[in-house]
Amino acid sequence: AEPAADPLLAGLNERQLAAVQSRAEALLIVAGAGSGKTSVLTRRIARLLRDRELWPSQILAITFTNKAAAEMRERVGHLIGHEAAQGMWISTFHSACVRILRREAQQFGMTQAFTIYDSADSRALIKRIVKELQADTLGLTVSAVAGKISRLKNELIDADAFARQYNQNDPTEVMFLEIFRRYTAELTRANALDFDDLIGQTVYLFRAFPQVAALYQRRFRHVLVDEYQDTNHAQYALIRELTRGVRPEHVPADTRIETDATGAIPPAKLTVVGDSDQSIYAFRGADIRNIVEFERDFPGAEVILLEQNYRSTQTILDAANAVIANNFDRIAKNLFTAVGAGDKITGFTGYSQHDEAQFVADEITTLHDGGMPYNQMAVFYRTNAQTRALEEILIRSAIPYRVLGGTKFYERAEIKDVMAYLVAIANPADALAVRRILNTPKRGIGPATETALAMHADELGGTLRDALSDAAALKLGPKVTGAMLELARILDEASATIETALVPDIVTAILEKTKYLELLRASRDPQDEARAENVEELVAVTREFQKNNPEGRLVDFLTEVALVAAADDLDDSSGTVSLMTLHTAKGLEYDAVFITGVEENLLPHQMSASEPGGPAEERRLFYVGITRARKKLHLSLAMTRSTFGDTQVAAPSRYLQEIPAELIDWRDSPGMGMRGGSGQRQLGSSKPSFSYGTSLPPGKPKTEWANRVTNTVRDNGDLTLEVGDRIRHDDFGEGRVTGVTQNGAKSIAEVQFDSAGRKRLLIKISPIVKL
Ligand code: ATP
Ligand code: MG
Repeated sequence: AEPAADPLLAGLNERQLAAVQSRAEALLIVAGAGSGKTSVLTRRIARLLRDRELWPSQILAITFTNKAAAEMRERVGHLIGHEAAQGMWISTFHSACVRILRREAQQFGMTQAFTIYDSADSRALIKRIVKELQADTLGLTVSAVAGKISRLKNELIDADAFARQYNQNDPTEVMFLEIFRRYTAELTRANALDFDDLIGQTVYLFRAFPQVAALYQRRFRHVLVDEYQDTNHAQYALIRELTRGVRPEHVPADTRIETDATGAIPPAKLTVVGDSDQSIYAFRGADIRNIVEFERDFPGAEVILLEQNYRSTQTILDAANAVIANNFDRIAKNLFTAVGAGDKITGFTGYSQHDEAQFVADEITTLHDGGMPYNQMAVFYRTNAQTRALEEILIRSAIPYRVLGGTKFYERAEIKDVMAYLVAIANPADALAVRRILNTPKRGIGPATETALAMHADELGGTLRDALSDAAALKLGPKVTGAMLELARILDEASATIETALVPDIVTAILEKTKYLELLRASRDPQDEARAENVEELVAVTREFQKNNPEGRLVDFLTEVALVAAADDLDDSSGTVSLMTLHTAKGLEYDAVFITGVEENLLPHQMSASEPGGPAEERRLFYVGITRARKKLHLSLAMTRSTFGDTQVAAPSRYLQEIPAELIDWRDSPGMGMRGGSGQRQLGSSKPSFSYGTSLPPGKPKTEWANRVTNTVRDNGDLTLEVGDRIRHDDFGEGRVTGVTQNGAKSIAEVQFDSAGRKRLLIKISPIVKL
């Protein structure tokens, strides 16, 4: 058919067209940001369905977040009708694996209601084990252990496999193995899987039970993966398992799929799209090699490159291209767009993070007044700690916003309490959940009783819940025994209903019987009021869930909650500005983007310095941030930043000087004086000191320049000024101090300069000397 006449192909460029229509067994689409990878994937699915090449149930599409999955489902539905798109599996790796594991749980000795431990749960468990074994004396912190276990699991190395390869002469490794073993045993005992297990267990399941694997290898005839650059080894192994076809001896008897001459079911088709420049999850074991070696693993694979960007202005792309060009070891690609140059990038240096936040708020207001809706704007940052200053100023400026990820709703103590009840009800074996609620709300079951219970559980060869029901055998006082039996009764009653009861009813019953909400409401602690509201919000969440999933039961609800990824929010962000980390921003796009804290130690992050490839990965993160912007990009930094009450002088990020100077328009900060470069004074300009109107001087080696950069930020130490003092400023010349606001490292002096007028200066970092 004539492409232009086909609504599914209309508007695509030649290469996109080839990608949508390709009939290759394996197809790799590599392309830069905003070139239509996700769009092409979506249209490819739509075409397969519309042309009846596949049933919806034969498609498995993997996205990076649940939100992205929902969007893709929506778009496919929009293209070919929602009816025709039903029954497709569009989900994250984790969601797809949970679905498979819940169905097949008995195969590997778990019950269908297994609990999913999020990273906080895992850490809580590791913390206990580390403490029991006093492993911290060997330098094995909870973070170090959690990180190592996760990395190993992502490489499909479990405790047994590790035991075959570790260094027996290294006491730290010996200890680590012991922790790993106990951690694994505790998870099994609790009928629980951690996040990494979801993928790993599915791979084990498929490898150990070829007949089970065959069901899925037969079912999914086309597997499509977005953001392929961020798949780790375990995820890659899963893809391989799913696309290996079925050997004749494992072909299910009732199969309607055509077998080949040997009686085997041929491998499923595979389409993956990715951009190695956007790989930002190495810390989670993501492996760019997966892209690079795709052709080797799938011989005969077709590779399509897309180069035209449809998202951003040329100015934004030029900045992105210039930054990423500094990474070695990459396939050079240059993005171009037909959109035109567009506005310059706006740069801003505040003297504090509050000043920076004020700039963001002011810009948002200006853009909004100019007609840009709030939901077309986003503010990115490297670490969650940066949100506080931003939120304060946004609230004060009456700008509606929402934080994606961050201190998540489900991480609040009161929500975890109620969730622990639900988990304990669904999965009685889950000791972590039962421990959490033993004395919440307070019912007189102290640590000693908890220990007694745990020992009794061991004697019984059962769970903590079993011990609880048998509390009378502990022969403790009548009051505490009564409390334990009462809790056991409440849990048992609820457990008996989980197959039939509606989720909101289970939650409400629990809140009533435990008086959890009642106690919060009666409390005099003002915080408890907010906590009560949060718990009510959770009840509302269950109602919403039940409305969307009339057949959904408690286990389904728990699955949904466990899988809510960072980028995912319960309702859409219409009418609000979005705040999120740079990691969360992947795959998204906004008319206006603010990247804040473009400073050394934040971007690149301090921790990346010690890791091989760290700074390169941070650069990719910055690249991801830049390429989210359609029209307006803002880069901002602060000259001082306080964390945990400690104010530090911040230096501009090294990545800033990688952007050609003419692309950025540095804004004035009211009253901020900074020193200029040699002979090029720009009074009051907020441009960070290292690149004042000059780009890298020709012929100068970069390192020398970089050294200069880091040395130019002044730290005046404890310099104190008083009204009446005379000072000299590098840019503004001499002047008299007319006012001082003492505020520790953030003390400000008001100075009447002899010729440069009146300025407010941050004493600690301004290029001034007392005369
Ligand atoms: P990222 O690497 O950030 O995930 P991507 O390659 O997946 O980006 P998309 O999100 O699919 O890119 O597309 C970027 C934007 O360009 C979207 O708004 C999309 O609708 C638009 N777009 C893609 N292809 C075309 C086209 N042929 N014509 C017009 N707009 C297009
Ligand atoms: Mg995409």
